[in-house]
Amino acid sequence: MRGEVLFNTDRCKGCSLCVQACPVHILALDTTRVNAVGYNPAYCFDMSKCIACTNCATMCPDTVITVKRLDV
Ligand code: SF4
Ligand code: SF4
Repeated sequence: MRGEVLFNTDRCKGCSLCVQACPVHILALDTTRVNAVGYNPAYCFDMSKCIACTNCATMCPDTVITVKRLDV
């Protein structure tokens, strides 16, 4: 299964729970950006490795993340 993660970036509070939850370690906080609420937002730096497990979306307390399944 391949996936694509979409972030509602301006809602992210930079808590890193999604970063820790990702089994393939492709999420990080973007220290080059500050979002609308003043945090470094989470982002995916290697989408090609996403396995659409949805761990990140499940862990996020602010429903920032949507996971799309690209194949079945
Ligand atoms: S869906 Fe799974 S593999 Fe993809 S970014 Fe989220 S936690 Fe990582
Ligand atoms: S779990 Fe949600 S709020 Fe926390 S860093 Fe990830 S996207 Fe942002």
